[in-house]
Amino acid sequence: MYHRRLPVYLLLDCSESLAGEPIEAVAQGVVALLADLRGEPMALETVYLGVITFATRAELAAPLTELLEFQPPKLRMGSGTALGAALRMLVQCLDRDVVQSSATQKGDWKPVVLVLTDGEPTDDWEAAADAVRTQVCGKRANVIAVACGPDAAADTLGRITQTVLRAADLQPGTLRALFKWVSASVAVASQRLEAAGAAGLGLPPLPSGAVEVATHGQSRRPDPDRVVFLHAKCVKTRQFYLIRYEKRGRGYEAVAAHPADDFDLGGGGGGGPTVAVDKLGPPPACPCCGNDAVSFCGCGRLFCSPPLTRPVRLTCPWCGKGADYAPGGGFDVGRGRG
Ligand SMILES: [Zn+2]
Ligand SMILES: [Zn+2]
Repeated sequence: MYHRRLPVYLLLDCSESLAGEPIEAVAQGVVALLADLRGEPMALETVYLGVITFATRAELAAPLTELLEFQPPKLRMGSGTALGAALRMLVQCLDRDVVQSSATQKGDWKPVVLVLTDGEPTDDWEAAADAVRTQVCGKRANVIAVACGPDAAADTLGRITQTVLRAADLQPGTLRALFKWVSASVAVASQRLEAAGAAGLGLPPLPSGAVEVATHGQSRRPDPDRVVFLHAKCVKTRQFYLIRYEKRGRGYEAVAAHPADDFDLGGGGGGGPTVAVDKLGPPPACPCCGNDAVSFCGCGRLFCSPPLTRPVRLTCPWCGKGADYAPGGGFDVGRGRG
């Protein structure tokens, strides 16, 4: 007899806006989810877990795997929020992974899908969202979408599924509570498999204060220019880092610099949004070497440098070209896609 599985897919936004504590909290959330589910006998027996990440592009970070074999994937950050690509990949996974019932044998239980995002999609997502809402939701999977933090548009997620939640912020405590709730939801689903197939998921109570049901039309349009990310490298160590600027009045103030080991830079710049340098306040110190200025290479890239009071010879850690850098500025610099 076929051992019926409960496939669970996590679609996790790994865009640069999560840099720092939030992406760590999401990674820890997956680890905690795994530990919780391994402690539930029914879940341990039935749940298979898969992870799709999306930022610059969608990636199958972990194929559908039984809980005891599952390895939490490394979450690779990138620019942008390729939600459409992630939804298309989800449909491919459902087509490929899920065993359908036949005349002679019962197939897998109806999968549970969690979509977690903190921003607006940056790719072609509408057709993919419509396909998931009309052909997947309720029929082939139970889909829960969570808009996290102030820049996520719950209305966008409403195009994917009726079940849209809003997490108040991206604080580690909030994300912990959210993942705790997700593991409880999956555990409940694994105990009520027959019911979940017919009437949808019976969801456990939401963690109060942290996560709530998003009501349609309630969410204001997030400001796409509230936060600006610049990509830089350390001139000494060549380590990649993200500089986070937030809008203050008419300009932007640097609020953080996050080193990132494995950042998906995509097919190589150009055509992205830009921001005028004179709108940006002083850069933050380089998180790798402490240099507290930045310079722009002719290749269009940004790197940390000592303050320039006179021309200095520097080698760009992006393209390897050496040049004399003088004080000054006043051009546009490419920014990340959030
Ligand atoms: Zn540096
Ligand atoms: Zn260069």
